[in-house]
Amino acid sequence: MQENIDKALNLYLTTKGYSKFQLLTAMFDMDGVLFDSMKNHSYSWHHAMKHLGFHLSREEAYLHEGRTGAGTINIVSQRERGHEATQEEIQAIYQLKTEIFNQLPKAEPMPGAYELLQQVKASGITPMIVTGSGQKTLLQRLERNFPGIFKPELMVTAFDVKFGKPNPEPYLMGLQKGYQHFHPENSTDTVGTPRRLSPNNSIVIENAPLGVQAAVASGVFTIAVNTGPIPDAALLDQGANLLFPSMQALCDAWPALLHSIQTVTL
Ligand code: MG
Repeated sequence: MQENIDKALNLYLTTKGYSKFQLLTAMFDMDGVLFDSMKNHSYSWHHAMKHLGFHLSREEAYLHEGRTGAGTINIVSQRERGHEATQEEIQAIYQLKTEIFNQLPKAEPMPGAYELLQQVKASGITPMIVTGSGQKTLLQRLERNFPGIFKPELMVTAFDVKFGKPNPEPYLMGLQKGYQHFHPENSTDTVGTPRRLSPNNSIVIENAPLGVQAAVASGVFTIAVNTGPIPDAALLDQGANLLFPSMQALCDAWPALLHSIQTVTL
């Protein structure tokens, strides 16, 4: 594994033209990374679609994680009927999906996630959230399950972005909020454009192919954790720089990984 880590870090620096990392933040996706919530999402997607005559397997639902509800519904509608769904159909399916989801037991924190976050914070790296979720209770839930880790101004949610993943926008917004945090007095340039941290100031932890695609497009070193039933290739093909089989595995590897990130130079 150490050999893989060193190779991945070197390849990233070479490709991007950096001589080293200067790590300040770590941007965590939420569903399927910090919470074991994807099985609830895939279950409710599968059953809502079925109720309205569409077939979306639970595994396929994982591959669409991060897409808007309408986007997912239209892909299935195109495949099965050759045309997009109507607004009414989209609303009906999405509403049913939400109802089913809300009846399921609340997702548990992912094993290893809190321990990893504590280690990250203790190493002086600032943990951030970058999620497509727009739940109003997000912050309370994060504070309850991961006390003392996250701050509201260091979170990117559905409310902050226009496009969402797989567009790089949410991770670029994460770099922007990171910059604001470290340089509050100087957060825009002379014409008022917000400044951003450099991609080599951060790393991303993602579980979904579309999330990896977004993170890679933002230029940040992207660590995939395959916490679902999808093949590793679905994440590696999107350009993930490293892959771990679980959050616990990433947590266990963190001390060695951080050491490599902080010492690698070209
Ligand atoms: Mg996710």
